[in-house]
Amino acid sequence: MAESRNTDKCDVVVIGAGFAGLSAAVRLAASGKAVTVVEEAPRLGGRATAFTDRETGQRLDNGQHALFGCYRETYDFLRVIGTLDLAPLDPTLRLTMADVGGRASTLTCPSWPPPWHLVGGLLRWKALPLRDRFAATRLLGLLSAVRRDGAERAAARVAPDLTVTDWLREQRQPTSLCEWLWHPLAFAALNQDPGVAAAQPFVRVVGELFGPSPGASSLGIPSVPLDELYAEPAARFIESRGGKMLRGIRAIVDVDPVGREHRVYAGDEILRPGAVISAVPWHAFDRLWRHEVPKRLVRIADAARQTQSAPIVTVNLWFDRPVMTERQIGFVGTQFHWVFNKGSLLYSLVASGAEGLLRQENNELAALAERELRACVSGAAAAVCERSLVVRESRATFSLAPGAPPRPSTQTLVPGIFLAGDWTDTGLPGTIEGAVLSGHRAAAAAMITL
Ligand SMILES: Cc1cc2nc3c(=O)[nH]c(=O)nc-3n(C[C@H](O)[C@H](O)[C@H](O)COP(=O)(O)OP(=O)(O)OC[C@H]3O[C@@H](n4cnc5c(N)ncnc54)[C@H](O)[C@@H]3O)c2cc1C
Repeated sequence: MAESRNTDKCDVVVIGAGFAGLSAAVRLAASGKAVTVVEEAPRLGGRATAFTDRETGQRLDNGQHALFGCYRETYDFLRVIGTLDLAPLDPTLRLTMADVGGRASTLTCPSWPPPWHLVGGLLRWKALPLRDRFAATRLLGLLSAVRRDGAERAAARVAPDLTVTDWLREQRQPTSLCEWLWHPLAFAALNQDPGVAAAQPFVRVVGELFGPSPGASSLGIPSVPLDELYAEPAARFIESRGGKMLRGIRAIVDVDPVGREHRVYAGDEILRPGAVISAVPWHAFDRLWRHEVPKRLVRIADAARQTQSAPIVTVNLWFDRPVMTERQIGFVGTQFHWVFNKGSLLYSLVASGAEGLLRQENNELAALAERELRACVSGAAAAVCERSLVVRESRATFSLAPGAPPRPSTQTLVPGIFLAGDWTDTGLPGTIEGAVLSGHRAAAAAMITL
């Protein structure tokens, strides 16, 4: 590559403008560091992004994203970029679920301190037979361990080869509670079938949601498309503090083994930062390097190559009239797991861990989504579906199956090269919170070296 290109010195180059990269860059910019973010795609946001629907002109997300009260790092990031009010948290936990017979029931948890809010809600939840309602109290031992030691340590005690299904069986959770609560939660949080995903990250999620922090299990649904929620506001924050956003440009890193002068090639520019944060996903790690993968990063690259992906399929359906008043409904015993009411007569149906659906034709997926919506939501019976739009994310998250390759930590063996991204070793599943936590950790680590 010609060395006659512009060369630019900055403190840190962040590669990738998803939640991980942008949260790292915002943290650095807020601390007065000169940051350059390089993003390969023309639009920011990575796997949490939005696009314009050609037919209606509506801004649509690439898939519904939900936040929770326990997303502490995420809400801190939103506060810094000034969008905290755009993903408001519900005051209490309230979930409407429905099965294919059209039986709908709402879990309403009282405003009691956790975990008694969950116990109180379940005891009154008519979806469950009376004898099953006390079963969740069998998790109180786990939740007091979470209170004592934190969710991370409590989850680490779970045997790594157990699946979610094995663990729920060990905890003697009845079928009704699994079908109406734990499985939909597992699909939503882990993006994988509970029979396949490891129990450890699920227990971490249960601990985070129902541990001691009040409001941790409250749901926060963004009120604007994802790019408006965080990607563009974060870019504005970075630029307003003198940082640079390079969009639609692939970064290639030339590693200096002793860490004195790494170079990042980005289009016409050669950047010479004090530190580099890779915030690319597992499947892009391999092709980040100018030459072959640096020797001291080979183990990470090998693990990244072996990391399996889990897909999400979203079907957007436009109806001629409203089909539900709820903001979202969870489905029991179906292939699509949740429907979200997006307003303007648009309903988004989400299938997580959707390997079985990925290769189906769009018209088959739309027909299946419509059928399941009509079966579960009585208000859809007479409505006419006027249009559908399918969005496939084949690499939505990384697989959490037992035996998955080790997740890399923030620090690498190469001085000045740091890692962020939901797939790094946060102990959390592939979520926004995992991505932001990793971004904040990488920013902190990079700052120490500058
Ligand atoms: C449909 C869907 C629904 C989801 N729902 C939820 C949910 O409800 N709640 C939740 O918490 N999580 C959800 N997730 C998961 C969440 O979106 C991800 O965990 C999170 O966005 C990952 O962020 P990231 O920054 O780690 O990676 P990414 O978003 O993948 O960002 C990495 C970026 O790096 C860029 N890049 C790669 N290589 C290069 C290069 N060489 N040079 C420059 N740029 C490069 C990519 O283009 C990309 O923009 C969902 C994901 C999907 C797909």
